[in-house]
Amino acid sequence: MDNHRPTPTLADALNRPLRDLRISVTDRCNFRCTYCMPAEIFGERYQFLPRSELLTFEEIARLVRLFARLGVHKVRLTGGEPLVRQQIERLVEQIAAVDGIDDVALTTNGFLLPQQAGALRAAGLGRVTISLDSLDEGVFRQMNGDRAQLEQVLAGIDAARAAGFAPIKINAVVQRGVNDHTLVDLARFGKDNGYIVRFIEFMDVGTRNGWAMEHVVPAREIVSRIDAVLPLEPVPPNYPGEVARRFRFRDGSGEIGVIASVTQPFCGGCTRLRLSPEGSLFTCLFAAAGTDLRAPLRAGASDGELEQIVRGVWHRRTDRYSEIRSSLTEPRQQKVEMYHIGG
Ligand code: SAM
Ligand code: SF4
Ligand code: SF4
Repeated sequence: MDNHRPTPTLADALNRPLRDLRISVTDRCNFRCTYCMPAEIFGERYQFLPRSELLTFEEIARLVRLFARLGVHKVRLTGGEPLVRQQIERLVEQIAAVDGIDDVALTTNGFLLPQQAGALRAAGLGRVTISLDSLDEGVFRQMNGDRAQLEQVLAGIDAARAAGFAPIKINAVVQRGVNDHTLVDLARFGKDNGYIVRFIEFMDVGTRNGWAMEHVVPAREIVSRIDAVLPLEPVPPNYPGEVARRFRFRDGSGEIGVIASVTQPFCGGCTRLRLSPEGSLFTCLFAAAGTDLRAPLRAGASDGELEQIVRGVWHRRTDRYSEIRSSLTEPRQQKVEMYHIGG
């Protein structure tokens, strides 16, 4: 970590600095998780973005250099499934070389890691988070739309470890009545293997995943259910604004995290900007619309002109959807989908 960076001058309308960038490199995925890209909607005929509409690696790298000058120092690649984008390690290499970027991470479903973990590590990827919702084969398959077997993702986790990524984080979305009976097994798996499992409250991202509050298991309940079997104690955040609340096993054998986006929102510390595969900027996971950067980029805009657009977007930012969700009288009708801008 670079502790000597000057305080960024770019603050949004609620005085939150711009710190992190999430880049969704593709809207495609080899899974069909029911809470993200349900197979009945994202079927054979679903029209994903044509290649010409995706930002090229060079375009993305140029934008990352610009964001870095505005205060971004962490970049996470996501999607869709980032590993289905051809030669993604070339993009990792370009981003890792940007002055001011001291953390390059990636979130993946793990399926393609056995082939790619080594190249990603060699290219300069610092951290990897692998999504795995359950260790129960039937539950896991049901949640990923029957696109992968458990052992394939476990092989991906092994490959990440063998490539030298540490600590490895595992993301599990928790849905009541679907996988909540398998939480403790996942926590124990992390504890026994030195992985940090992070349990995520099922969120109402997008409009197509059939979200309802009764499917959410509050983080407090997740913690108490694990604590009853594997005693836990709270740990202070690693840094201000950390999204996951940390708990360590009382026997000293590791930790878990809970991401309580629904029941204990953290918009006040949200310093993230999101870039979609086709080059739109989104200031919130629940935004209705983005700001197009690709058109000016391809029309020959200078760095200064692009910077002005980004500054304007961040200055005007007032998003705090998770904090106001419960006071909305009606659900927001228009929201970007998770597979489009990444988690
Ligand atoms: N395909 C990659 C993966 O699954 O790790 C990266 C993209 S995925 C959209 C990023 C993260 O968002 C995953 O950990 C996924 O479980 C999480 N996610 C997707 N839909 C969600 C939802 N409705 N609520 C909470 N988390 C969700
Ligand atoms: Fe694909 Fe990730 Fe969404 Fe699952 S959560 S459908 S793996 S993008
Ligand atoms: Fe950030 Fe929007 Fe999530 Fe709040 S709801 S934490 S502003 S992404």
